[in-house]
Amino acid sequence: MIIQLQNNIKEQNKSLILKTLNDYKFSASEVKTQQGNYLVAIGKGEIDIRQIGYLEGVSDIHRVSDSYKLVSRKWKTNYSEIDLGDDVKISPNEFAIMAGPCSIESEEQIIDIVKHLKKNNVKIMRGGVFKPRSSPYSFRGLGIEGLKVFYKHCKAEGIKIITEVMQVSQIADMVDYVDIFQVGARNSQNFNLLDELGKTNTPVMIKRGLAGTIDELLFSAEYIFSAGNEQIILCERGIRSYEKAYRNTLDLNAVPILKEKTHLPVIVDPSHAIGIRQFVEPVTLAAIMSGADGIIFEMHKQPEIAFSDGQQSLNYPEAEKLYRKIRKTYEFRQELV
Ligand code: PEP
Ligand code: MN
Repeated sequence: MIIQLQNNIKEQNKSLILKTLNDYKFSASEVKTQQGNYLVAIGKGEIDIRQIGYLEGVSDIHRVSDSYKLVSRKWKTNYSEIDLGDDVKISPNEFAIMAGPCSIESEEQIIDIVKHLKKNNVKIMRGGVFKPRSSPYSFRGLGIEGLKVFYKHCKAEGIKIITEVMQVSQIADMVDYVDIFQVGARNSQNFNLLDELGKTNTPVMIKRGLAGTIDELLFSAEYIFSAGNEQIILCERGIRSYEKAYRNTLDLNAVPILKEKTHLPVIVDPSHAIGIRQFVEPVTLAAIMSGADGIIFEMHKQPEIAFSDGQQSLNYPEAEKLYRKIRKTYEFRQELV
């Protein structure tokens, strides 16, 4: 059960609500976010929720049978919108395109890609400065100094930044230079990291784990929400399967399922899913038709010499063709409904 409290609730009213829940053998956790003040009550007791609903200070109450609560659409039926400022939003009505290199490599590269994105009216740039690499000998990113340069050029041109945070200790250094924190597939269930990101006021995109179930992804989102941050985006990026013909198995079934289960926006990453440059386009278009709220993909001026993931990165002409097709496909999808 979720109880939304009035933001200015009096302490004595809150105490009475907590006491009533306790009397009915519910244990309650208090959750305060940027947007609301909630009690998440867990228990097996029989209760007519009106017993709580009529108490002073309660603004809304719902029974939520899912094991995750605040991210469930049983609690919030309207889809959430993530507002990045400067009129950049992620929601079912504002299809998000996020593009950029796998890794930020140099200042020249940033300047060049920012110019390319501006020209194509793409508002969000991806690029890792802390890279989770399978081998410790691979390029591991330019780190915080690279992020500052990335931020400087994006900020000057009104482009928003999404970049991966790998550990708790990086959050404080990164927070002023990031518009969306990305939690990578390998950190999808790093609960300490999720808890700490929940204490920030910055949107977070969580990628599905390499072998993560849909419910596990939702629980990861619940960690962030219950720690105080409602601005969460989910990302399907392919899961590990027995198939070897491509990098990961893109689970497009997850998109409509997630859109049914949660009010959070759902983004698809075709690059890390198929992992093959020439097939990024068809998979992207399929993702849009499956109901995704946005796409994040990798591109590079010269994919052949990229420091990481060049094999799945589009070059500029390929990316431009894809933006056009993404927009057309999204328009087509909107006409269908
Ligand atoms: C990335 O986005 O570059 C990345 C490492 O993604 P993932 O965590 O999905 O592997
Ligand atoms: Mn990559």
